[in-house]
Amino acid sequence: MRGNDLYHSDRRKFLKTIGASGLGLSGMLPVAQMASAQTVLNDKVKIVIAGSGLAGLATASRLRKQLPNAQITILDAKKEHNYQPGYTLLATGVWKSTQSVRDRNERLIPQGVEWVQEAAAAFEPEQNRVITTSGKKLDYDYLVVATGLVLKYDLIEGMDVASIGQNGIGSVYHSPDAAANTWKAIDAFRQKGGRAVMTLAPTFMKCAGAPLKMTFMVSDSLNEAGVKSNSQVDFFAPATSIFSVKTVNDAALARWKELPVPTNVHFHRTLTGVDISAKTAYFTDPDGTVHKEDYGFLHVVPPMFAPDAVAQSNLVVAEGVQKGWLEVDQGTLQHTRYPNIFGLGDINGTARGKTAATIKKSAPIMVHNLLQHMQGKPANQIFDGYTSCPMLVRRGSAWLVEFNYAGELTPTMPLINPLQDSYLAWFVEDLLLKPAYMAVLKGKA
Ligand SMILES: Cc1cc2nc3c(=O)[nH]c(=O)nc-3n(C[C@H](O)[C@H](O)[C@H](O)COP(=O)(O)OP(=O)(O)OC[C@H]3O[C@@H](n4cnc5c(N)ncnc54)[C@H](O)[C@@H]3O)c2cc1C
Repeated sequence: MRGNDLYHSDRRKFLKTIGASGLGLSGMLPVAQMASAQTVLNDKVKIVIAGSGLAGLATASRLRKQLPNAQITILDAKKEHNYQPGYTLLATGVWKSTQSVRDRNERLIPQGVEWVQEAAAAFEPEQNRVITTSGKKLDYDYLVVATGLVLKYDLIEGMDVASIGQNGIGSVYHSPDAAANTWKAIDAFRQKGGRAVMTLAPTFMKCAGAPLKMTFMVSDSLNEAGVKSNSQVDFFAPATSIFSVKTVNDAALARWKELPVPTNVHFHRTLTGVDISAKTAYFTDPDGTVHKEDYGFLHVVPPMFAPDAVAQSNLVVAEGVQKGWLEVDQGTLQHTRYPNIFGLGDINGTARGKTAATIKKSAPIMVHNLLQHMQGKPANQIFDGYTSCPMLVRRGSAWLVEFNYAGELTPTMPLINPLQDSYLAWFVEDLLLKPAYMAVLKGKA
């Protein structure tokens, strides 16, 4: 069966079954309200939320409803809100306009929540205080840290984010424009084909599946453009795997070998430099030896860290693999040393799950535990580490991979086998995730 026939037969199967199933979707999808504390507390408490990404806004929306008299303040200098899962669709040419991922914080911050348009410069948990970049002191009774992470392109020598989209440079992570420009670079590259060099960061990553999705879709684009005979895809990974969940790792590696434009994998290679005008990438191996690789298209995945204000505070894990990330109990999401502080989203130093799906499942649990703590009760709901990753494998087809902290697959949709090509999984990523995301942001899912 040809690719297109497969697409249409998958689509028909899906359309036939979807009516019957009533879309019993979980994970990122707006299903019944998750359990959360139903008590309406009338305390006049002061709550500061650092960060107005999905995690900060989902927290603010839920707390605003539960605590009508609380003084809730969001701290963030960023004025635009971006639907980041859409970046992959922009970078692969599926979505055409960056407008579909842009919104204004002004519109999204819940009524009655004060927005201080500055970043936190320092956290002083002993004093229950956050200092803003202008030196303002914000006292709190409770703090939620939701600052996300920062992309450190500057750690790759020679990398210039302004060049994304030109000279064969792509990067799905940076911004809506960079994602759209990444597609321009892929589209130009596939006119003739050549060597695509795909990379992975040596740190924890948000949506760790995104570099894999880009690899699948670059290979698919070369095949679609009819240039497979003079094309090659090479993937460079810092360690000895490409994804932390073994079943997904093994399935993706096996699939890459079978693609019309197969992907060759090179382990123990970290992208440490690039000469953009010469189209040469530099990879360092564990012995420190630098290897030079020429490319026609390079996908850059930058190292990712906690923002400085958090990393330099004493809120973070001091040693081990989670060093530098927010020190929370991975079940309750309460800080392990400062019980009036909770964490949500990408900043958390938890085993897995820097995704919007993680925020969807964990926001109600974190808010419930915070409300319990306010009432002098133990944090008694436990997050299992749920995350999900619709892995685009080719145009019109994806795997809907869902898993927990233990790395076990936790499929929630009866119609979808996590590691099988599915039009429904593609449909979820393309059309259903954004409404689900907005429902999470508004505290409705
Ligand atoms: C390319 C890509 C594809 C993705 N695909 C998927 C997907 O398919 N499915 C999925 O579930 N997830 C996906 N994600 C991941 C998902 O988008 C993120 O996990 C989620 O948006 C993180 O939200 P957050 O609020 O934790 O962090 P962010 O969105 O990063 O928000 C953090 C906010 O905190 C602010 N901030 C930073 N420092 C400070 C400070 N010092 N003081 C105050 N504020 C501060 C920032 O300005 C920012 O507004 C993808 C992400 C990317 C980039």
